Amino acid sequence: MAQKRDYYEVLGVNKNASKEEIKSAYRKLARKYHPDVNKEKDAEQKFKEIREAYEVLSDANKREQYDRFGHSFSQQGAGGAQGFEGFGDFDFEDIFSQFFGGGARGSRDRNRPRKGQDIQKRMRVAFTEAVHGAKKKIRTTVYEECSSCGGSGAESNDDIETCSRCRGTGAVTMEQQTLFGRTRTQTVCPSCNGSGKTIKNKCSTCGGEGVQGKQKTVNVTIPAGVDTNNQIRMPGFGHKGVNGGPPGDLYIVFDVEEDDVFKRHGDDLVVDVPINIAQATLGDEIRVPTPYGDVKLKIPAGTQSHKTFRIRNKGMTNIRSKRRGDLHAVIKVMIPKNLDKNQQKLFQELKKTDLGNSESLWDKVKAKFKQ
Ligand SMILES: [Zn+2]
Ligand SMILES: [Zn+2]
Repeated sequence: MAQKRDYYEVLGVNKNASKEEIKSAYRKLARKYHPDVNKEKDAEQKFKEIREAYEVLSDANKREQYDRFGHSFSQQGAGGAQGFEGFGDFDFEDIFSQFFGGGARGSRDRNRPRKGQDIQKRMRVAFTEAVHGAKKKIRTTVYEECSSCGGSGAESNDDIETCSRCRGTGAVTMEQQTLFGRTRTQTVCPSCNGSGKTIKNKCSTCGGEGVQGKQKTVNVTIPAGVDTNNQIRMPGFGHKGVNGGPPGDLYIVFDVEEDDVFKRHGDDLVVDVPINIAQATLGDEIRVPTPYGDVKLKIPAGTQSHKTFRIRNKGMTNIRSKRRGDLHAVIKVMIPKNLDKNQQKLFQELKKTDLGNSESLWDKVKAKFKQ
């Protein structure tokens, strides 16, 4: 592991920076380096670094620990984003709560803007599409604000009433008798689910849910070299946000079909190449199929079955480095089954000659077991 940079240095703030200064530095950098925006190679790494620094410095406890012990303090929970395109937990909520002056996470306020739900879809990809990359369409159902009620869930505005149980606050105080006496706890109002409102007549279009499913067709760009269970994230293609919040993201997880000619091993491919016994014995120039067209391959005289030749750069494209893997051509010497008269005669002649057959094996076995 490379030496970690100082978190203050990462965010470009001084050691006495206020919470607000840290937040604003983070927001600026996160926007600049977010991998959806910034296509530079090290953007992902930078973004993770920024995020990790912010996660520590924005938390008074963690910041104090860090100030005292530096990077040696426990990193649990820091640096959440990882893996290919795995930026699902970028904190939009945090940014939005600032724009709208909304409450902190876990707040009872159900009316604050919330990011829409993410959608995950699997997509089947043909082997050739995985080789070359492709553009494909996918159908998805996106929940968005009901067009009839505008998301309120009520048939008309007159049907929205202030919740009588919580008087519009969204919270109720529960009194409980326990071993230690009476305790009072505040919880989300069960009548209105914390919204502070109840609905007399539900919207007939959405049944009071406030959302409607809409069929959408999304264009997906499949990167060359994609493999089963790779995923891409399409920001903003998820379900619509609530109360003006941003939409969620769409995650596409790929299922790449197996090919019956090329077997995949990571970025490398393996192909069986049948040759006949004369080619194997005398050597030859043969053609080897690759996903990018045939290539010529010289095989030397005396090539044994299962001998493997490596053909460089004819494998799959590595999804990160964009470099191609290799193709391994496995020679399969085929023994002829249906010889014509002439061929039979030639093999009879060959049989009489000393081809260095398996006699030596029998000698070995006899010596070993003293038969
Ligand atoms: Zn509705
Ligand atoms: Zn209520």
